[in-house]
Amino acid sequence: QSRARIKAQNEKLQHLASRDPLTGCFNRRAFFERVAPKFNAALRNNGSLCCIMTDIDHFKNFNDTYGHAVGDQVIRATATNIERQLRQDDLPCRYGGEEFCVILFDISPDIAATIAERIRYSLENHGNNAVRHAEVHKITASFGISSITDGATTVEHLIEQADSALYSSKANGRNRITVWEPSIGIGGNTS
Ligand code: GH3
Ligand code: MG
Ligand code: MG
Repeated sequence: QSRARIKAQNEKLQHLASRDPLTGCFNRRAFFERVAPKFNAALRNNGSLCCIMTDIDHFKNFNDTYGHAVGDQVIRATATNIERQLRQDDLPCRYGGEEFCVILFDISPDIAATIAERIRYSLENHGNNAVRHAEVHKITASFGISSITDGATTVEHLIEQADSALYSSKANGRNRITVWEPSIGIGGNTS
Protein backbone atom coordinates (compact mmCIF):
# COMPACT_ATOMS: atom_id res chain seq x y z
CA GLN A 1 0.00 0.00 0.00
CA SER A 2 2.81 2.41 0.91
CA ARG A 3 4.55 1.51 -2.35
CA ALA A 4 1.41 2.52 -4.20
CA ARG A 5 1.33 5.75 -2.24
CA ILE A 6 4.96 6.54 -3.10
CA LYS A 7 4.24 5.80 -6.74
CA ALA A 8 1.26 8.18 -6.69
CA GLN A 9 3.34 10.87 -4.98
CA ASN A 10 6.12 10.49 -7.55
CA GLU A 11 3.63 10.85 -10.36
CA LYS A 12 2.23 13.97 -8.76
CA LEU A 13 5.71 15.45 -8.39
CA GLN A 14 6.54 14.52 -11.96
CA HIS A 15 3.37 16.27 -13.12
CA LEU A 16 4.15 19.41 -11.10
CA ALA A 17 7.73 19.54 -12.36
CA SER A 18 6.66 19.36 -16.00
CA ARG A 19 3.86 21.95 -15.98
CA ASP A 20 3.47 25.67 -15.90
CA PRO A 21 1.47 26.30 -12.69
CA LEU A 22 -0.75 29.04 -14.17
CA THR A 23 -2.02 27.15 -17.23
CA GLY A 24 -1.16 23.47 -16.73
CA CYS A 25 0.61 23.50 -20.11
CA PHE A 26 4.05 21.89 -20.35
CA ASN A 27 6.92 24.10 -19.29
CA ARG A 28 9.76 24.60 -21.74
CA ARG A 29 12.04 21.92 -20.33
CA ALA A 30 9.36 19.21 -20.33
CA PHE A 31 8.21 20.34 -23.76
CA PHE A 32 11.64 20.03 -25.38
CA GLU A 33 12.21 16.67 -23.68
CA ARG A 34 9.05 15.35 -25.28
CA VAL A 35 9.32 17.03 -28.67
CA ALA A 36 12.96 16.23 -29.49
CA PRO A 37 12.64 12.43 -29.93
CA LYS A 38 9.40 12.78 -31.87
CA PHE A 39 10.89 15.44 -34.12
CA ASN A 40 13.89 13.22 -34.85
CA ALA A 41 11.64 10.25 -35.59
CA ALA A 42 9.59 12.38 -37.99
CA LEU A 43 12.80 13.52 -39.73
CA ARG A 44 13.94 9.89 -40.19
CA ASN A 45 10.56 8.61 -41.38
CA ASN A 46 9.45 11.59 -43.47
CA GLY A 47 6.66 12.07 -40.97
CA SER A 48 4.54 15.19 -40.81
CA LEU A 49 4.66 17.53 -37.84
CA CYS A 50 3.74 21.20 -37.46
CA CYS A 51 4.41 23.98 -35.00
CA ILE A 52 1.95 26.72 -34.03
CA MET A 53 3.36 29.72 -32.18
CA THR A 54 0.88 32.17 -30.74
CA ASP A 55 1.15 35.40 -28.79
CA ILE A 56 -1.72 37.36 -27.23
CA ASP A 57 -2.28 40.74 -28.93
CA HIS A 58 -1.63 43.87 -26.89
CA PHE A 59 -1.59 41.77 -23.77
CA LYS A 60 0.07 44.53 -21.79
CA ASN A 61 -3.21 46.49 -22.09
CA PHE A 62 -5.02 43.82 -20.01
CA ASN A 63 -2.49 44.15 -17.21
CA ASP A 64 -2.47 47.93 -17.39
CA THR A 65 -6.26 48.29 -17.57
CA TYR A 66 -7.51 45.56 -15.23
CA GLY A 67 -4.48 44.55 -13.18
CA HIS A 68 -2.11 41.62 -13.16
CA ALA A 69 -4.60 39.12 -11.68
CA VAL A 70 -6.99 39.65 -14.58
CA GLY A 71 -4.00 39.49 -16.94
CA ASP A 72 -3.30 36.04 -15.50
CA GLN A 73 -6.91 35.01 -16.17
CA VAL A 74 -6.54 36.13 -19.78
CA ILE A 75 -3.49 33.86 -20.09
CA ARG A 76 -5.44 30.94 -18.59
CA ALA A 77 -8.43 31.56 -20.86
CA THR A 78 -6.09 31.55 -23.85
CA ALA A 79 -4.51 28.26 -22.76
CA THR A 80 -7.97 26.70 -22.34
CA ASN A 81 -9.03 27.83 -25.81
CA ILE A 82 -5.87 26.37 -27.31
CA GLU A 83 -6.18 23.03 -25.51
CA ARG A 84 -9.82 22.59 -26.53
CA GLN A 85 -8.77 22.39 -30.16
CA LEU A 86 -5.93 19.89 -29.65
CA ARG A 87 -5.73 16.11 -29.72
CA GLN A 88 -4.39 13.90 -26.97
CA ASP A 89 -0.88 13.56 -28.44
CA ASP A 90 -0.33 17.24 -29.30
CA LEU A 91 2.16 19.08 -27.11
CA PRO A 92 1.16 22.56 -25.86
CA CYS A 93 3.79 24.62 -24.05
CA ARG A 94 3.66 27.95 -22.26
CA TYR A 95 6.65 29.29 -24.11
CA GLY A 96 6.86 32.72 -22.52
CA GLY A 97 4.68 35.15 -20.55
CA GLU A 98 1.78 35.38 -23.01
CA GLU A 99 3.21 33.11 -25.69
CA PHE A 100 2.37 29.50 -26.45
CA CYS A 101 4.00 26.94 -28.70
CA VAL A 102 2.18 23.79 -29.83
CA ILE A 103 3.58 20.82 -31.71
CA LEU A 104 1.02 18.79 -33.65
CA PHE A 105 1.79 15.37 -35.09
CA ASP A 106 0.73 13.69 -38.33
CA ILE A 107 -0.71 16.86 -39.74
CA SER A 108 -0.29 19.04 -42.84
CA PRO A 109 0.29 22.81 -42.64
CA ASP A 110 -3.22 23.34 -44.09
CA ILE A 111 -4.84 21.41 -41.26
CA ALA A 112 -2.59 23.15 -38.70
CA ALA A 113 -3.83 26.47 -40.12
CA THR A 114 -7.43 25.27 -39.76
CA ILE A 115 -6.81 24.40 -36.11
CA ALA A 116 -5.11 27.76 -35.50
CA GLU A 117 -8.10 29.48 -37.11
CA ARG A 118 -10.46 27.64 -34.73
CA ILE A 119 -8.38 28.83 -31.78
CA ARG A 120 -8.23 32.37 -33.14
CA TYR A 121 -11.99 32.45 -33.72
CA SER A 122 -12.99 31.00 -30.35
CA LEU A 123 -10.63 33.34 -28.50
CA GLU A 124 -11.95 36.41 -30.27
CA ASN A 125 -15.59 35.44 -29.81
CA HIS A 126 -15.71 33.64 -26.47
CA GLY A 127 -12.28 33.95 -24.83
CA ASN A 128 -13.21 36.77 -22.48
CA ASN A 129 -16.27 34.85 -21.13
CA ALA A 130 -13.88 32.81 -19.00
CA VAL A 131 -12.44 35.93 -17.35
CA ARG A 132 -14.27 36.85 -14.15
CA HIS A 133 -14.24 40.04 -12.04
CA ALA A 134 -14.09 42.42 -14.99
CA GLU A 135 -15.86 43.10 -18.25
CA VAL A 136 -12.66 42.63 -20.20
CA HIS A 137 -12.45 43.52 -23.85
CA LYS A 138 -12.00 40.90 -26.56
CA ILE A 139 -8.95 38.67 -26.42
CA THR A 140 -7.21 38.23 -29.74
CA ALA A 141 -3.95 36.53 -30.62
CA SER A 142 -1.61 36.28 -33.59
CA PHE A 143 -0.33 32.99 -34.98
CA GLY A 144 2.59 31.61 -36.95
CA ILE A 145 2.78 28.10 -38.39
CA SER A 146 5.68 26.04 -39.66
CA SER A 147 5.98 22.48 -40.90
CA ILE A 148 8.83 19.99 -40.80
CA THR A 149 8.40 19.80 -44.59
CA ASP A 150 9.74 23.41 -44.73
CA GLY A 151 13.21 21.97 -44.11
CA ALA A 152 13.94 22.53 -40.42
CA THR A 153 16.60 20.14 -39.15
CA THR A 154 16.09 20.90 -35.45
CA VAL A 155 13.11 21.67 -33.23
CA GLU A 156 14.63 25.10 -32.53
CA HIS A 157 14.75 25.83 -36.25
CA LEU A 158 11.11 24.77 -36.70
CA ILE A 159 10.10 27.07 -33.82
CA GLU A 160 12.12 29.97 -35.28
CA GLN A 161 10.22 29.59 -38.55
CA ALA A 162 6.86 29.64 -36.72
CA ASP A 163 8.03 32.62 -34.68
CA SER A 164 8.99 34.53 -37.83
CA ALA A 165 5.57 33.79 -39.32
CA LEU A 166 4.02 35.03 -36.06
CA TYR A 167 6.01 38.23 -36.40
CA SER A 168 4.50 38.69 -39.88
CA SER A 169 1.01 38.27 -38.38
CA LYS A 170 1.82 41.01 -35.84
CA ALA A 171 3.27 43.31 -38.50
CA ASN A 172 0.26 42.81 -40.78
CA GLY A 173 -2.32 43.86 -38.20
CA ARG A 174 -2.51 41.06 -35.55
CA ASN A 175 -5.45 38.67 -34.90
CA ARG A 176 -4.40 36.56 -37.88
CA ILE A 177 -2.54 33.46 -38.98
CA THR A 178 0.56 33.28 -41.17
CA VAL A 179 1.98 30.05 -42.55
CA TRP A 180 5.78 30.23 -42.90
CA GLU A 181 7.19 30.36 -46.42
CA PRO A 182 10.77 30.94 -47.58
CA SER A 183 10.12 34.62 -48.41
CA ILE A 184 9.45 35.24 -44.69
CA GLY A 185 12.90 33.99 -43.73
CA ILE A 186 14.06 33.82 -40.14
CA GLY A 187 14.20 36.82 -37.86
CA GLY A 188 12.02 39.55 -36.44
CA ASN A 189 11.21 39.87 -32.79
CA THR A 190 7.82 39.14 -31.28
CA SER A 191 8.55 39.94 -27.66
P1 GH3 B 1 1.90 42.49 -28.92
O1 GH3 B 1 0.55 42.52 -29.55
O2 GH3 B 1 2.93 43.14 -29.77
O3 GH3 B 1 2.30 41.09 -28.54
O4 GH3 B 1 1.81 43.38 -27.60
P2 GH3 B 1 1.91 42.91 -26.07
O5 GH3 B 1 1.43 44.02 -25.20
O6 GH3 B 1 1.17 41.60 -25.91
O7 GH3 B 1 3.44 42.60 -25.93
P3 GH3 B 1 4.51 42.80 -24.84
O8 GH3 B 1 5.47 41.69 -25.10
O9 GH3 B 1 5.03 44.20 -24.87
O10 GH3 B 1 3.79 42.59 -23.45
C1 GH3 B 1 3.76 41.40 -22.79
C2 GH3 B 1 3.50 41.67 -21.33
O11 GH3 B 1 3.16 40.45 -20.64
C3 GH3 B 1 4.67 42.23 -20.56
C4 GH3 B 1 4.67 41.48 -19.23
O12 GH3 B 1 4.62 42.40 -18.17
C5 GH3 B 1 3.41 40.66 -19.26
N1 GH3 B 1 3.50 39.34 -18.61
C6 GH3 B 1 4.44 38.39 -18.81
N2 GH3 B 1 4.17 37.29 -18.07
C7 GH3 B 1 3.01 37.53 -17.38
C8 GH3 B 1 2.21 36.78 -16.43
O13 GH3 B 1 2.51 35.62 -16.08
N3 GH3 B 1 1.08 37.36 -15.94
C9 GH3 B 1 0.71 38.62 -16.31
N4 GH3 B 1 -0.41 39.13 -15.79
N5 GH3 B 1 1.44 39.37 -17.17
C10 GH3 B 1 2.58 38.83 -17.71
MG1 MG C 1 1.76 39.82 -26.96
MG1 MG D 1 5.09 38.38 -26.34
